[in-house]
Amino acid sequence: MTGPRYRGRFAPSPSGPLHAGSMLAALGSWLLARQAGGEWLVRIEDIDPPREVPGAAQAQLDMLAAFGLLHDGPVEYQSRRSHFYQAALERLLADGTAFECHCSRSEVAAAGGIHRRCVARRPRPDPAIRLRVPDGCRIAFDDGVHGHIVQRVDLEVGDFVLRRSDGLWAYQLAVVVDDADQGITDVVRGADLLDSTPRQILLQRALGLPTPRHAHLPLLLGADGRKLSKSEAALPVSADHPLATLRLLWDCLGQAPLAGHAAHSVEEFLRAAAAGFRLDRVPLQARHVCAAAHNTNVSTRA
Ligand code: GLU
Repeated sequence: MTGPRYRGRFAPSPSGPLHAGSMLAALGSWLLARQAGGEWLVRIEDIDPPREVPGAAQAQLDMLAAFGLLHDGPVEYQSRRSHFYQAALERLLADGTAFECHCSRSEVAAAGGIHRRCVARRPRPDPAIRLRVPDGCRIAFDDGVHGHIVQRVDLEVGDFVLRRSDGLWAYQLAVVVDDADQGITDVVRGADLLDSTPRQILLQRALGLPTPRHAHLPLLLGADGRKLSKSEAALPVSADHPLATLRLLWDCLGQAPLAGHAAHSVEEFLRAAAAGFRLDRVPLQARHVCAAAHNTNVSTRA
């Protein structure tokens, strides 16, 4: 059986409502999937209960629906998939690619914050599991927006955590297992995850999984050209005026005005946008108009 030509996904963590930056990623990813005649899946990445906000996952799904970003198939929840992460971890432990690490946070910090070898003075009852990153490990890939990216994973990241000492799964392992299980061909997400991609490629290789294509969409900038602060970036978008917000997000994605700007409904706009979207117009950083996208939908709706 052959998989689909194109399958994208949006994978929010339910740590709060979707903000303008995440809606930008959702929109770009949806448009590319629809343009390719492909599928678009939604996966709730709820593997970090302490950071989870009750009701956030449903609010995120409602927001996507309000913006017309309809998904294919059932929504997947990472919290139901531990056994798959466990199986992957056991394979990595069995072949020596992963190892138990007894180092404390302060011991790793004292070694420059990049783990290259265990320095633990005493074993801990709750060791983390890390991936062993070989010396000289250099991962390169071509990003649809950022072009050729190279990372020396050994020097810039070090041996990274797959299962935390508190027993929670690390994002890097879960995302790789799920993208492969769901047959994702194209990962389109925010540029804050650009430097995670080499780790994920390394894991895909260690597990014998395919590497999808990648495109990392711009982060939003404030009107002053600087990245939005965490608290600003965390402000939710409003579902009250989805069409106006979609137009602003479209501008943030560097797209030329299209006939769909005159559209009277979200559906009409999205149809025109999917036909006219051009990845080669997407800027590395979102234009300042995004601050307007943000403010329009936060403060003027009070
Ligand atoms: N769950 C991650 C986040 O909300 C995104 C994961 C991904 O797209 O790979 O930041």
